[in-house]
Amino acid sequence: MRRALPLLLLLIASRLVFSQPPQPRTANVVLLMTDGLRWQEVFSGADAALMERKSGSSAALQKQFWRATPEERRAALLPFFWSVVAGQGQVFGNRSLRSEARVTNGLNFSYPGYSEALCGVADPRIDSNDKRYNPNLNVLEFLHRRPGFEGRAAAFGAWELFPWILNAPRSGLLVNAGYEPLQLPESPGSLQLLNTLKAETEYWEGEAFDSFTFHTALEYLRLHKPRVLAILLGETDEWAHAGRYDLYLKSAHRFDHYARRLWDALQSLPEYRGSTTLVLATDHGRGSSRKSWRSHGRRIPESQYVWMAFLGPDTRPLGVLRDAPPVWQAQLAATIAALLGQDFRAAAPAAAPPIQSVLAR
Ligand SMILES: [Zn+2]
Repeated sequence: MRRALPLLLLLIASRLVFSQPPQPRTANVVLLMTDGLRWQEVFSGADAALMERKSGSSAALQKQFWRATPEERRAALLPFFWSVVAGQGQVFGNRSLRSEARVTNGLNFSYPGYSEALCGVADPRIDSNDKRYNPNLNVLEFLHRRPGFEGRAAAFGAWELFPWILNAPRSGLLVNAGYEPLQLPESPGSLQLLNTLKAETEYWEGEAFDSFTFHTALEYLRLHKPRVLAILLGETDEWAHAGRYDLYLKSAHRFDHYARRLWDALQSLPEYRGSTTLVLATDHGRGSSRKSWRSHGRRIPESQYVWMAFLGPDTRPLGVLRDAPPVWQAQLAATIAALLGQDFRAAAPAAAPPIQSVLAR
């Protein structure tokens, strides 16, 4: 019995050491979202019933995205997602495998969705896409006020609403959105060209093409090395509303290409290599029928189902979650903060808790 005492003390001491919260290796987070991309395409690729329709039936489209099995189709649609992200990270929301990711705001459209994701709460006051400043604290703003993150959080959105969603006047964040040019003191020629093309290539009112938003954000990343960067793309939603399944698929494919470009850029820069977590998500789902896939909202309950994915040095490579507890959109905010070792809920107590399985342990 006497010999057991030192062993017991050792066990208690080691328990104390190991019960400290582990220090994350993540020093930077990049969030890349694409608007209204369904979990159905993410997990099963192109939908045969929708490919047949008049707008999306070209042989070239079939060749690009049609394959015999759902696994092959999703890999053709989102090759980076299905090789690197699913191989080395964690993916939530495959309902066929009993992993559910849900919007909890009950409205299933964009302002409430981005607000839920970035502020961590489903606030019933956020019930329209009107240009109203968000009263809620968002996670970028929270981080921007933390030591070591001041002036190092920024957001780039294709949709012009983001300065309102992120309350840019209050938060002091750099929020570049819609057709607004990005003005930097040093403004290299490439950025000036992006500003010019964006201003001269208008199709949707209030929403720029994703390419301008993405490349502007990438230029900013290279020039200013933000520690927290949100890139919020919109074409998947726009083309779906227009009933253009062909262009919806192509914009989803481009979103995947952008994720790869971003990941490669991050791994090529010493400030980010091995210390950056990439978070991929959407703001809402869509309908599941041949008619309702175009739309989403309160009247289309299945548009509450979303997906999300995490890739980085602290996230264990569990791949696609199956038989997993449900996660919800509101958890994104605290998860982004927790990846960086920060407690968002200390400042926003009503926010949903972080998703534990993606964090360092
Ligand atoms: Zn929409």
